[in-house]
Amino acid sequence: MKAAVFRGFDSPLAIEDRPEPRPADDEVLIEVARCGICGSDLHMTREPAFRTPIGAVLGHEFAGTVAELGRNAHGLEVGDRVAVAPVRGCGSCPSCLAGEPAWCRQMLLQGGGYAELAVAKDRQCMRLPVTTAIEDGALVEPLAIALHGVTLADLTPGSRVMVMGAGPIGLGVAYWARRLGATGVAVTDLTTLQADRAMEMGATVFVRADEDAVQAVSSALGGAPDVVFECVGRPGILSRAIEHVRPRGLIVMLGLCTAPDSFVPFQAVSKEVRIQTSAFFTLGEFRAALDALDGGRCAARAMVTATVSLSQMPATFEALRQRTSQCKVIVSPD
Ligand SMILES: [Zn+2]
Ligand SMILES: [Zn+2]
Repeated sequence: MKAAVFRGFDSPLAIEDRPEPRPADDEVLIEVARCGICGSDLHMTREPAFRTPIGAVLGHEFAGTVAELGRNAHGLEVGDRVAVAPVRGCGSCPSCLAGEPAWCRQMLLQGGGYAELAVAKDRQCMRLPVTTAIEDGALVEPLAIALHGVTLADLTPGSRVMVMGAGPIGLGVAYWARRLGATGVAVTDLTTLQADRAMEMGATVFVRADEDAVQAVSSALGGAPDVVFECVGRPGILSRAIEHVRPRGLIVMLGLCTAPDSFVPFQAVSKEVRIQTSAFFTLGEFRAALDALDGGRCAARAMVTATVSLSQMPATFEALRQRTSQCKVIVSPD
């Protein structure tokens, strides 16, 4: 089978012929239909801190069709269309039994989606609703990441929300915030490239992140935001979030920043700001994100800007390292 293979922190991914993976007893073989390119994969292929092994096949936002069952694989049949929850735990510890494999001691973020075939544990595979196009299945994972952040914010009806960063996670946060009670959702970004997508996903206003943004967001929302979601992950952003949020407000950090960041504590203390970080999702949230796609009700397709083949994928992947007009790019292996 063809796969996009990691060949080192200085090289682009390479398309190679690989032996077909074989499902273990409690696994299934999946014919990958779509796999989203995630910003975290860009980090994992550039920054040695992630210790990505040479030869790895990344890609954790995938959906496909079950092609073969391991001997003891339960609850699935060949031909089922599934989205894969890529956070894999041991399956038996208290965290796993609570549907929170992210906090299992043996947790691993499984990849394999940048290939024609992949394997996953049976318990990681969730059947897509019959009315959901398999093309949308790759959106479940980023939507679940966004939902987790929004869940941690305990929004109440009427909340004023600001989302920093109009990438897929920022747009996913806008989507859920609007559906979970926020009346005003301001999305900001350095450029207006994703403004229309943001509005389609749930934003009530889009604001350019320039020096007047604090005033602009606050007047658009009718007051400073109760919650600021940080979905950028660059040094300096936390300090901006503290400027934006209302006194005693909440900042939820979803951005993946691997460099040190700093802020002036006095600035935060004088507003009694709360800061909450957000990682991964629960299986319940993954299921909720999947259900949101049912019946084509999900506006999430708006975040997709391109679908590329596996052979086009390495070049597209490298291009995403620079600021582009792309939002979510999906790989279609066939
Ligand atoms: Zn991802
Ligand atoms: Zn476990």
